[in-house]
Formats: sequence, C-alpha cells, structure tokens
Amino acid sequence: MNFPAFRAIGLLIAQLFACSAALAAPAEAPAMWKNGRWFDGTQFVKRTMYSTQAGLLTTRKPPKVGRTVDLQGKYVVPAYGDAHTHIIGDEDQLDAKIAAFLREGIFYAKNPNAIPDFLTPKMRSMINRKDSIDVVFANGGLTGSGAHPAPLHDNLADRGLLQGLGRADMPGRAYHIIDDEDDLAASWPKILAGKPDFIKVFLNGGTRLRLGSEAGTKAGISPAMLKSIIRRAHDAGLRVMAHVETADDFAAAVEAGVDETAHLPHFGPRGARENAAAYTITPEVAAQAGARGVTVIGTASVLQRMHGAEWPEEARTSVAALHRKNIALLRQHGVRIAIGSDGMGGETGIPTAAGEAAYFYTYGLADNLDLLRMWSVVTPQTIFPDRKIGKLEEGYEANFLALDGDPLADPKNLHRIGLRVKGGAVLALDGGTAAD
Ligand SMILES: [Zn+2]
Repeated sequence: MNFPAFRAIGLLIAQLFACSAALAAPAEAPAMWKNGRWFDGTQFVKRTMYSTQAGLLTTRKPPKVGRTVDLQGKYVVPAYGDAHTHIIGDEDQLDAKIAAFLREGIFYAKNPNAIPDFLTPKMRSMINRKDSIDVVFANGGLTGSGAHPAPLHDNLADRGLLQGLGRADMPGRAYHIIDDEDDLAASWPKILAGKPDFIKVFLNGGTRLRLGSEAGTKAGISPAMLKSIIRRAHDAGLRVMAHVETADDFAAAVEAGVDETAHLPHFGPRGARENAAAYTITPEVAAQAGARGVTVIGTASVLQRMHGAEWPEEARTSVAALHRKNIALLRQHGVRIAIGSDGMGGETGIPTAAGEAAYFYTYGLADNLDLLRMWSVVTPQTIFPDRKIGKLEEGYEANFLALDGDPLADPKNLHRIGLRVKGGAVLALDGGTAAD
C-alpha cells in the first residue's frame, strides 16, 4: 500500500469514526445553571436558567435535570464572535487557531475572502461542530480589474505562499473580476456553484485617493455594478458585505443596499491628519445606514496592529479620534457595530477580535455597555442572522461565557472567562468534555 493511499484510508476511517461517535454521543443532559448573573441586554440579573437536551436555554425547569452547575456569582454573557477574520481559512495550524478563539470566548467567525480550494473536507470537519467554532465563508470576493484584493493574491501566489496555486489560478478563486454586466453574467453561475455563505464586494476608493482619478477601475466595483450584484445576491438569499476604504465608499455601499460593511472607513495617520474629510462619514449617510439596518464591522485596530510599531503616540490618538467620531455618529443613528479583527495569515501570533475589543475600550470608541452589546449580541447575529444566538433568552442556543468580573464596571473583564458553554456543554478547555 503506498503512503498517500494509506493516508487516504486513515482519513476515511477517522471520518467514519468521528461520524459514528457523533451519532452515538449521549444526548445532552438538561442542566440547571444556578447563581449566575445573566446579561439581559442592558444589565446583569441574578437568576436560575436551564439548558435543554437540545442545548437551548429555558427559564422553565425541565422534567429531569441531569446536572447542576454553580456559576458562583459570575457574569454570564452570550459568546463572542469575530465578524472579519482571514485566519480561519485553511488547515494550517487550525487546531491552535480554534483553541485560541475558544479560549478568548469567540465561538463564531466570518471569513470574507477565502480560497475555496483551501476549505478542504478535513478543514470543514474541524469546524461548525459543538466542540469547535462556527464559521461562514464568502469564498473569493468580487472586485474590478487590477483592484484589491487581486494584486495582493497575485503577489502571494508569485511568492509561492498559496499551497502550489499560481497567479493564473487566482481569478475565479481568490477573487472574481466584475467590471460590467457581461462579466457578472459570466461569473455569477460559478460564484453560486461555490456555495458561498455570503457575498463580498470590494470598493477601493482609498486607491483612487492615493493614486488620483487615473486609477480608474482600480477603485473596485462600480456603483452601478454594485446594485446589480446586490440584486442577484439577495435573489439567491445571500447577504452582501462591502469592503470600504473611504467615506465615499461607505456612502456608495449604503446607497446600493449592502447588508454589512467589512470595515469602518480606514486610514493611517496621514489620512487622519491631512485627509480627515475623506474618511469622515456624513450625518445623512449615517442616518441612511441606520434606516436600512446596515451593520458596520469595525476592524478599527487593523492598521495600528500591522503598522503601529512605527507610529508615534500622536498618530495613534489621531487615528482613534477619527474612528471615535465615526462610531459616535453611527451609534447616534442606531447603526449596529460589530467587532471584527481582519486577522490575516503571516501576522505575529493569532490575531482575533479580542484585540479589536481591547482597542475599542483602550481608545474609548464605545462605552462599556455598548461594547458588550457589539461583541456578544451584534457580532454573533451578523455572522449567523438565522440562528437564535446573541441573547440569553428562552429558546436561544445555550452558548455563553461566565466572566469572573463585571464587564460593565471594567471592560477588561470581557477577557476574564471562567467558563465557556456551547450547546449546553462546558467546553473541554475548562476541564469538562464536549459530552458532559
Ligand atoms: Zn479582510
């Protein structure tokens, strides 16, 4: 037997075993969760809650309670999410990445630009299950000729960093070039055939700003094409997330009817200092975003995380001040803000939404209550809008964290996680097993 065949059979056996183990796993015993302070969306309330055999929360005591867990006065919040990460997108160190996410209380993740070839059956078998994180993928995003993320992926392919895929493999995989209706008509069947969980489009006004108007199509998807894409996506039951760079991009995305933006307008110190108007959202657009129910994924910390080592403190604070201004305006108009890291491969360590949340409280981008809602309510719900998550109420999934301190008193307590519970089971890294 040659080695690859042996490996293939081994994998098959492992999959069969995993499958039968899942089928044979004992049904979850209903549990009583006592002495917890439960977040009700505004405050913490002392109460006893139960989880059912199906892993759902209930206030009514099930007929047979198999377990009682004493939460010892801890602060119970819905599990967190990372609404913008590229870290979960292949098999590479996936175990360690899943462990890092769970350790930080992040149960849900959204990858807005993945290469479908890397989402292998093995990779898929490690996520979207009870003892792991739940992830959705956009596959390759839609952009204009020569525009982000095409040059980035072409460059990674040239450098041999994409598992044997070359530059010629990138179009149709890492991205789809959509300059006009003909491109869209030709690419759309292939895009749908990849079974994306949602659609990602790129508006790259920052490129136009840097290079001048001659950048032309490098600015990504045109406003007219954006409307056509959204119409097709919504007809197919898919939500649309737009990468935006400038306030004009943001306005175009909102006007065209996107469901989410992948970023706030984002900029470095020079943008904040010399070009603040180009990155400042207007009240009219904020009002429109609020009225249309757009969710804005912050990723406010990404540039500082990648380049901030070279920034003087004055630069950090001027960038943060512009974010604070945009967020305050959006919140004033009821726009939902989600927490997303924009974590990428090749960064130091495993960047997650925990760093983005810390950036929010370090620079005062949201008050403690709003930040808790953003991370534990808005973020899970924008990743899985059809699931009952992000609330600790009757019939919602019993996916929660028990914090050792009050996050409304000190946001650092968001990270002091004493217990992680998914589907009513204490996660193994807390000393339990997925089946207990
Ligand atoms: Zn990204």
